[in-house]
Amino acid sequence: MPYSGEHTLRNRHRFTKTASDPVPIPEESIEKAISILKSGRLFRYGEETGVMSEAALLERDFAGYMAMPYAAAVNSCGCALFLALKALGVKPGDDVLCNSFTLAPVPGAIVHAGANLKTVDITGRLAVDLEDLERKIEQSDAKVFLLSHMRGHFGDVSEIIDLCDRYGVSVVEDCAHTLGADWAGRKIGTYGAISCFSAQTFKHINSGEGGVIATRDPELAAKIILMSGSYMLYPQSGAAPPLEVFEPLRDRMPNFSMRMSSLTAAIIRPQLTELPAWIKQWNSLYKRIEAKLSDVPGLRIIPRLNDEHYVGSSIQFCVENLDSDRRNAFVQSAKEHGVFLKAFGAERTDGFTSRYDQWLYAPAQERLQRTDSILSGLMDMRIALSFTLEDCDIIAAVIRESLEDVYQR
Ligand SMILES: *Cc1c(COP(=O)(O)O)cnc(C)c1O
Repeated sequence: MPYSGEHTLRNRHRFTKTASDPVPIPEESIEKAISILKSGRLFRYGEETGVMSEAALLERDFAGYMAMPYAAAVNSCGCALFLALKALGVKPGDDVLCNSFTLAPVPGAIVHAGANLKTVDITGRLAVDLEDLERKIEQSDAKVFLLSHMRGHFGDVSEIIDLCDRYGVSVVEDCAHTLGADWAGRKIGTYGAISCFSAQTFKHINSGEGGVIATRDPELAAKIILMSGSYMLYPQSGAAPPLEVFEPLRDRMPNFSMRMSSLTAAIIRPQLTELPAWIKQWNSLYKRIEAKLSDVPGLRIIPRLNDEHYVGSSIQFCVENLDSDRRNAFVQSAKEHGVFLKAFGAERTDGFTSRYDQWLYAPAQERLQRTDSILSGLMDMRIALSFTLEDCDIIAAVIRESLEDVYQR
């Protein structure tokens, strides 16, 4: 009997919405964007000083949101990571560490800086394996660890920071999926020397493209602002250190032209006000799916620590003991019933998945056994703010039935 026919007979659940519905653009953002367009002042700097552009206002507001003194608005998180590495003095040929579970813009930023990527293993929580981190610090000359809180998993960040501090290694936090998250009451993005955020459509704030950098180090902040391409108009920045910090640096920093436009900033700024409500909604949807999947045989939800206050904008789980044919059949069965899962173990990375053994532009990495075994069964699904709790129940039912389906074959 044909595959789909069987399912019709069994009357399976079917999900009909899309998980790739973007984060909504508030009305206020739209009005601001239109007024910027009408004014023609899309570029963030003017030659006359005294007026704060939307980009400068975003820097001010973002620094306020993060309770950090300095922020710089740039054109993507990937560029933010690159600028962070440059500001920390990473030179071509230097080793830079990063956790193995991350997205392609992270190795991309390291390669962009001409540095030598070295991957660090992960744990079953998708957090950094501290033992491997210590080993890699000892075995390399890395002075920077690019800590990617991939898909919003971070574990005990303070342990990672303590370890890096002991070795004099600076931490850059990749907060693309952790804007609004905290560890033990302290915001993710306030632990490292520099933190980088994304406003790409599928992150927590949406301007299509965009990035923000935060730091509490005045010299790093000045370097980043200059390198982002401020020309000598940096006094118009919105959350910058005092002008005398720029003085010795202003002619020494190259301009990499990675600024954010005022149009982008105008779209983002009102979203910071909406964010706390969005986070509540994401987490209630996440917890519903998590609860409904908690007793599915052969499925392991990625566990969270009590102090790990994440933003549930996507959910990850592992299917265990499935060979690659059955894993593919599971993904296919879910897809035929409207649930789009991304499999990190697939032969080829696809869409927004990324695996360290497939970054052929970087030096070949030693095999990481734990990463390999975790990623082989790792599934990933976006959670859209347009979902309802009932949608979550249907999604979980589709996942459960798809797994039962492949187990029965
Ligand atoms: C999206 C993402 C980035 C890059 O963000 P862009 O703004 O698209 O450059 C970096 N790291 C992680 C973990 C991401 O998910």
